[in-house]
Formats: sequence, structure tokens, C-alpha cells
Amino acid sequence: MSVSFSLTEEQTQLRQLAADFAKDVIRPVAPHHDVTGEYAHDVLRQAHELGLMNTHIEEEFGGMGLSAFDGVLLAEELAWGCSGIGTAMEANGLAQQPVILGASDALKKKYLEPMTEEYSLCAYAVTEPGAGSDVQGMKTTAVKQGDKYILNGSKMWITNAGVADWYFVVALTDPEKKARGGMSAFIVERKWDGVEPGGKEDNMGQRASDTRAVSFDNVEVPAANLIGKEGDGWKLAMAAFDYTRPAVAAAAVGVGKAAMEYAIQYATERKAFGRPIASHQAIAFMIAEMAMNIEAGRGLVWKAASMKDDGIRNTLHASYAKAFCADMAMKVTTDAVQVFGGYGYSKEYPVEKLMRDAKIFQIYEGTSQIQRLIISKEIFVRNR
Ligand SMILES: Cc1cc2nc3c(=O)[nH]c(=O)nc-3n(C[C@H](O)[C@H](O)[C@H](O)COP(=O)(O)OP(=O)(O)OC[C@H]3O[C@@H](n4cnc5c(N)ncnc54)[C@H](O)[C@@H]3O)c2cc1C
Repeated sequence: MSVSFSLTEEQTQLRQLAADFAKDVIRPVAPHHDVTGEYAHDVLRQAHELGLMNTHIEEEFGGMGLSAFDGVLLAEELAWGCSGIGTAMEANGLAQQPVILGASDALKKKYLEPMTEEYSLCAYAVTEPGAGSDVQGMKTTAVKQGDKYILNGSKMWITNAGVADWYFVVALTDPEKKARGGMSAFIVERKWDGVEPGGKEDNMGQRASDTRAVSFDNVEVPAANLIGKEGDGWKLAMAAFDYTRPAVAAAAVGVGKAAMEYAIQYATERKAFGRPIASHQAIAFMIAEMAMNIEAGRGLVWKAASMKDDGIRNTLHASYAKAFCADMAMKVTTDAVQVFGGYGYSKEYPVEKLMRDAKIFQIYEGTSQIQRLIISKEIFVRNR
């Protein structure tokens, strides 16, 4: 039996819906949000109305229950419009995923179902000031007292932290055990006493996205807000990445594609030495490399997402896709700036934004070094 790269009619329509939304709604306002850093609530509200947000919430809780593959189709198109706005949208999916995977029906009904009805936001709060790649180095604690946990500590670099109604939080319930059953996951509401988001970070790229620290000072978390059982935190936080890393990689493909399209257009119009620069082989080959690597990246994304949907463990392939596409987007956008020459370096042209936006793909949801750590561990274990 052959493997098909053809999309179903529904998938084609879904992709087109996202592509039209990116072209008509996201891209026109992307420069404004890049300059001001204002959160694009208006765009996200429209996306919510069209069914382009919260797409993985199960049907029994009012969602669409879309597959991982459907999700990567959407992520590529939305990021093509603006990956900062795309990240703001995807941050909901990242926070929801461990809840979908591990929470009780009661928690899903309370926190996920309303999000399918009304526009609202959530955030995945795992990283800490002293613990990013090394998640096990976290210091935030949740100490059980009767039917509550008392949460203390602080999180860092949390996307959507200033606009989210609730956070997916991982904290130590048994500091000795750490990842081996010592970390637990909770839903923590932003409005609760002791929860304090910091100021918005003034980031290099994806400036439409809201990134902040969050501190927890003796926050009383009802025991009912524990996701799964005590000790499930590490497992849930990591399991979410098998779904979201292919989507992040897809977003990197979208950014690369946008940069390549601008480069093709410019190379056709701009003349040097009496002819369009596209006819200089050095430029044409640079664009050929872009096309080749974008296509390769999409292939890795589609495989990683399809494996998840087929019930095959995809951790290795999610890391292949995340590492390759992040590095690819950085290279493609940097080369697009090169194709534009001096104009590429100016904020009046669109490619410098894409280069700034692309950088974060090599950092969040596991840096490019951490992806290689995962890949090398996986392949050495497999080949032992
Ligand atoms: C804009 C933005 C949005 C983010 N959104 C979220 C979010 O929503 N939720 C959340 O929880 N976190 C979020 N993060 C955090 C992000 O996941 C971390 O920044 C990332 O995991 C790296 O952690 P760190 O910044 O502490 O860097 P460090 O872990 O200190 O790493 C510094 C450098 O050392 C390298 N390094 C570290 N360990 C190793 C190793 N063992 N081998 C080789 N190299 C190594 C890293 O690759 C990196 O280059 C976000 C970050 C940013 C900047």
C-alpha cells in the first residue's frame, strides 16, 4: 500500500479557510502588532468564531476534536500570515493539550467546554527563571493542605500569561522525586489571590504574542484542579509536545514559505547588472535551496503528525520536525533578507520581521540543542 500525500476534501477546505483568514485578516494587521506589541484580540476573536482556535478539544466537550494532522495544516497557514499572532492562538492549544490528555471529565467540562463557546485564553506555565531546558530544575512547589494545594514559586516566558484566564502549571509535590513522580500538574486561575503576571516582555520577534513571568504567592489551588493524579505532571507536560512540536514546526514552515514568496517576487522585479537578480544563478540557487528545505520540512511535519494520529510513538519524529524546521526557517528568512540586499535590512520591507520572528522557533518548546539531545538519545537507544 502506498502512503498518500493527498489531503481529503475536508482537509483541503480547512487549510483553505486558514489560508484565507491569514491573507485577509492576519497579514494586513501583522505589521501593526509587530510595531506596537498590542495583543490581537480582534483577530483571535474572529478566528474563534470561524472555528480556527481550540481545535483539538474533544467533541464531547463541545470542540471539534481535530487530529494532529489537521492541526499542522492550520498552523502552517496561520503562521504564514503572522507567526506572532499564530503563536498567540497556538498557545491555547499547548495549554489545553495536557488537560485533554490527562484531566477528569469534570475539569474538562469546567475549563475546556466554555472555551469552545466563548473566546477566552489559557497558557502553559512550565518554564521558570532558573529552569528552561532543564525542566527538572524547577523550584515551584505545591504542598497539600486538606483539600487544597498551596502553590509557591514563579514561572518565566509564559506565552499568553497576561491574557489567559487559566494556566496549566507544573509544580513539585515531592521535590526529592522530581520527574520520577514528584511533579504534578494543576489548572490555576489567573484571578485567584496570589497569582501575579509580570510585565510584557519586549521580545525581538513574534511581538504580537504576549510573553510574561507569573508568580504564585501562597495560591490556594483546590485539590480538584489536580490534573490526573499526583506525580503525573512531568509525563503530561512532555506528552503535550508530541502534539505541539509538529505544530510549531509547521508554523516555522509557514514563516519560511512567506519569506520565500517575498524573495521570489523581489528577485523577479529587482534588476542588477542589467537583468533581474533572479537570473543570477547565486540568487536563483538560494531560492531553490529555500524551496527544497521548506518541502523537506513539511514532509517531516506531516510524518510526525500522522504518526501521532496513527497511535505510533512520535517523540523522535516530533523532534526531527521541530529541529529541522526551526533551523530551516532561520536560514530561509536570513537568505530572504540577503536576496533583498539593503532593502531587506529595512523595516519598510517585510522580510526582516520574518527573520526576527523565525529565531524563536529555535528556542521555545525545547531549543534546537534539546531537540538534538532527544534525537541522539532516541537513536542510540534504538540502535543498542
Ligand atoms: C517568546 C518565548 C515564549 C515562550 N513560551 C513559553 C510558554 O508558553 N510556556 C513555557 O513553559 N515556556 C515558554 N518559553 C520558555 C522556553 O521554552 C525556554 O526559554 C526554553 O526551553 C529554553 O530555556 P531557557 O531560556 O531557560 O534556556 P537554557 O535552558 O538556560 O538554555 C540556554 C542555552 O543552553 C543550551 N542548553 C541547555 N541545556 C543544554 C544541554 N543539555 N545540551 C546542550 N545545550 C543545552 C540551550 O539550548 C540554550 O542554547 C518561552 C520562551 C520564549 C523566549
